[in-house]
Amino acid sequence: MTKNYPATQSVQDYLKRIYDLTEGGCPASTNDLARELKVKPASVTGMIQKLAAEKPALVAYQKHQGVTLTPAGRRAALEVIRHHRLLETWLVQTLGYAWDEVHEEAERLEHVVSKDLEQRIAAALGHPTRDPHGELIPSEDLTMPTEDCTPLAALRPPQTATILRVSAHDTNLLRHLNSLGLTPGVHVEITEYSSFDNNLTVKANKKTTVLGLNITTKIFVQTM
Ligand SMILES: [Zn+2]
Repeated sequence: MTKNYPATQSVQDYLKRIYDLTEGGCPASTNDLARELKVKPASVTGMIQKLAAEKPALVAYQKHQGVTLTPAGRRAALEVIRHHRLLETWLVQTLGYAWDEVHEEAERLEHVVSKDLEQRIAAALGHPTRDPHGELIPSEDLTMPTEDCTPLAALRPPQTATILRVSAHDTNLLRHLNSLGLTPGVHVEITEYSSFDNNLTVKANKKTTVLGLNITTKIFVQTM
C-alpha cells in the first residue's frame, strides 16, 4: 500500500521542486531549490534537514552534494503532481478553462484534494494519461509513465514531428503558443534553421513561424 503522506503544503512544494530538478538524474543543489522556491538558501537547508530526518526520510542530503528524493519522498511528490495534472485536465475539460488559466488554480487545489476526490476526477475524465499541456499524469499507483521525446530545439530541416507537451506555466507564453497553433497533438515541419541564433522556422497548420530558443526548448516533440 502506498502511504498517503500527511505533508504540509510547504513540504509538498519542496518535494515537487526536488522531483523536477532531479528528473534528469542529478541531485538538486540548495541554491537551485532556493531560486525555484523563491526563498533564502538558509531556509532551504533547514527544510531539507527536516525532510531528511522524517521517518521514513523523504530526501537524502549530503552537504555539497545536493538533494535527492528517497522512494517515500518520490511517492509523495508524484501524488501532488498527479493531483495537479488531474485538476488541470478537469478544469479544462469540464469547467471550460483555457490551458493558460489552470496552473495557478491547480497550484492551490493540489494540496487539498482527497484520495476520494482524486479518484472520482480521474474516473469522470476516463483516466487521462496527459494534462492539457501534454504533461504525463502519474498513474494511480504513483509511477510516472515514460515517453520518448525530444526538445523542438534539437530538430533541423527537413524534420517533421508531433508536439507531445509544452513545459511552461507562463500565461502569456501559453496564449502566444495557442495563437500560433502550437499545442499538443499538432504536426510540425522544420523548414529553416539559423545557426547564428539557433532560431527555427516551423510550419504548423499551414502557418509559418520563426521560433527562438526560449520557446523551442519548452516544446517537446516525437519525431517522425
Ligand atoms: Zn500546472
